[in-house]
Amino acid sequence: NKQVLLRGFITASPRETDLEFRVGRAELGVPDGSKAVLVKNLYLSCDPYMRGRMREYYNSYIPPFQPGSVLEGFGLAKVVASENPHFRPGDLVSGMTGWEEYSLILKTEQLRKVQVDEKIPLSYHLGLLGMPGFTAYAGFYEVCSPKKGEFVFVSAASGAVGQLVGQLAKLHGCYVVGSAGSQQKVDILKNKLGFDDAFNYKEEVDLVAALKRYFPQGIDIYFDNVGGAMLDAVLLNMRVGGRVAVCGVISQHGISDPEGLHNLSSLLFKRIRMQGFLQSDYLHLFPQFLDCIVEYYKQGKIIYIEDMTEGLESAPAALVGLFSGRNVGKQVVCVSRE
Ligand code: NDP
Repeated sequence: NKQVLLRGFITASPRETDLEFRVGRAELGVPDGSKAVLVKNLYLSCDPYMRGRMREYYNSYIPPFQPGSVLEGFGLAKVVASENPHFRPGDLVSGMTGWEEYSLILKTEQLRKVQVDEKIPLSYHLGLLGMPGFTAYAGFYEVCSPKKGEFVFVSAASGAVGQLVGQLAKLHGCYVVGSAGSQQKVDILKNKLGFDDAFNYKEEVDLVAALKRYFPQGIDIYFDNVGGAMLDAVLLNMRVGGRVAVCGVISQHGISDPEGLHNLSSLLFKRIRMQGFLQSDYLHLFPQFLDCIVEYYKQGKIIYIEDMTEGLESAPAALVGLFSGRNVGKQVVCVSRE
């Protein structure tokens, strides 16, 4: 059973050497009378929140990983053994699983059965139809209160969450600009994902001026995936009555002394609503999200870009790559195709 473990707690940005790849003992069945299921992991999701779980003191909403233990994260897996009446061998499930070839899952209530649809790649259940896609859906419709014709700005726009936010905003009749960290990503935003415009934030010396150039009339909605200096610059470019959905602060991960915000007075002057949110607070909307996004996808109204690496051995680099922008689209690891 190949596995990826956390070597020890980290304090700075994660490096590949913080993770250990090893060949461990395989669980071959489920304990008698248990509700656990044994799964074969097919695809694993690399998500930015996992970095927080690699820290000892993680003042957040899920406990840290333990040094020397197998990482866990969202995965798409096939049931190989089960005495649980809800799961049969051969079922495909998504949910929290281990970063290993085979996992014994004890908390089966969090597993969701996945219906195979030949028109939809299985791995999309970790991205477009999984937690990141749902984050985009709940954040955009529930937190941003969008209206047709509004000016929308999305950061980390080509990523797992951002690419769907931008496409939903376009379908809503908004004007959408995205920022991303390379020319390749900017081209994807403009030429594949249908954003009205996009720019490489790494090439801008003055973010306030750059945003003024892309939004001469100001921003109504900012879907914030990064926090820090970009958020501060956006605050000076917001319109009266604007909304800021604080989805993530990836620019501040690994910084011991996070940057301060200097422009919070804009909240007052422009009567801006700035709200942080967690997708997990909106899970009652998951069924309607699936219906909506599957329909859009099948109608060709949205597309989804994935960055897939092959083999569990590639998982440490894939995870670490999120924090330098190496991923182009949703980062997944293919452990096995069947
Ligand atoms: P992405 O697929 O967007 O991957 C992360 C991207 O972040 C990188 O590709 C990179 O893109 C960008 N990035 C990395 N470091 C920095 C930096 N220092 N400054 C600016 N950008 C940086 O990830 P997700 O779409 O999965 O997640 C996006 C955000 O949403 C994250 O902050 C995540 O924590 C958050 N999130 C929040 C949830 C919630 O419930 N609130 C749920 C899921 C995700 P680039 O090349 O453009 O810099």
